[in-house]
This record gives sequence, structure tokens and C-alpha cells, in this order.
Amino acid sequence: MRVIIFGPPGAGKGTQAQLISEKYNIPHLSTGEIFRSAIKNNTSLGKEVKSILDSGELVPDNKVVDLVEEELQKSKYEGGYILDGFPRTLPQARAFDDILKKNDESLKALLLLKVPEEELIERILSRGEGRSDDTKEGVIKRLRVYEEETRPVLNYYRKQNAVEEVKGIGSVEDIFHRITKILSD
Ligand code: ADP
Repeated sequence: MRVIIFGPPGAGKGTQAQLISEKYNIPHLSTGEIFRSAIKNNTSLGKEVKSILDSGELVPDNKVVDLVEEELQKSKYEGGYILDGFPRTLPQARAFDDILKKNDESLKALLLLKVPEEELIERILSRGEGRSDDTKEGVIKRLRVYEEETRPVLNYYRKQNAVEEVKGIGSVEDIFHRITKILSD
């Protein structure tokens, strides 16, 4: 099963992706986590992207696409995966479609977590994960980038009839329950 978890910063993508990964036994691929881990380990990728993540801007499409394409070649992704944070722009969505086509694979669904904006800001500022981009300015910037560059990706998947909307408020368990109802169909 191949699934994309989608939504603005603070929507709870990482939390739900982890639960989906455990229940359906598919690996969780988070591009944000890959970048944060590279920064923490001070790798060449980490050095390249640190200032981009700190500013709330997006890493260039070609870099992200190459990285995801290479990662997805690992055998652990053969039986499916959950993508979190990718695709985040239209060029990334098109490139991901090409990757699927090349492998003769298809997407089960894009799960859109819907959360009101006030709640997003509140959640991020109180989550205390110590992320250097979780400042008020950082959040506002990431929300703007989401609206401008990431939201258009939804129309792309709406045309494929792949978008499943999930109410992203309530307890983690309630939201996960809504997701499993969709994925078990
Ligand atoms: P959030 O959804 O809270 O913004 P992520 O962990 O998904 O958190 O992403 C953190 C940062 O990593 C983004 O602001 C961006 O700089 C970078 N990033 C992650 N995924 C992508 C991507 N697919 N394309 C470009 N940049 C990305």
C-alpha cells in the first residue's frame, strides 16, 4: 500500500504516519526527518540544507526528488510506504508520478489532514520538539509556503480522485481511527 499523508505544518502528519506505518507494516518516509537527521549528523546534505530549513523555505525540487527516488529503491519499500512531507510542490508530484509509473505501481490515497490555521500555530508553538524552525516567524513562513507552493499539489491529486479528507482535530486516536476506516476500504 502506497499512501501520502498531506497537510500544513502542525497538522499531525508525522504522528499519524508513524501509527499508519506500525499498523500496516509499511515504512514511514519523512523528507523533513531525513533533512533534520542530516543536519544533526553534519553530513554534506545537512550542511547544504540547514539554512533552508531554518528559513522555512523549501529545499530545491531536484535535490528532494533525487533523494526520494534513491531512497525508494531500497528493498524495504517494495511492499509499500507512507510518504510524509513529499510531494510538496507540483514538480515533485509530477516526478513522483513518473517514479510510480516506471515501477508500474499506484497510489492508494492521499490523506489530507484538515486543521484550522489558529490551531496549527498553537500546536507548533507548544509542541516543544526543539526544532529550530518552530518559532513564531518560522511557522508563519512555513504556512505561507504551504499555501503558495504545496496546496496546489492537492488539485493535482484531486484530478486523480486520490484525495481523502480527514478531520484532523480531536485525539490522536480519534484521528487515526478515521484514517484506518479510509485505508481499510
Ligand atoms: P512541517 O510540515 O512541520 O513544515 P517537515 O518535517 O515536513 O515539517 O519539513 C521541514 C522542512 O524540511 C520544510 O520546511 C522544508 O524546508 C524541508 N522539506 C521537507 N520536505 C520537503 C520537500 N518535499 N521539498 C522541499 N523541502 C522539504
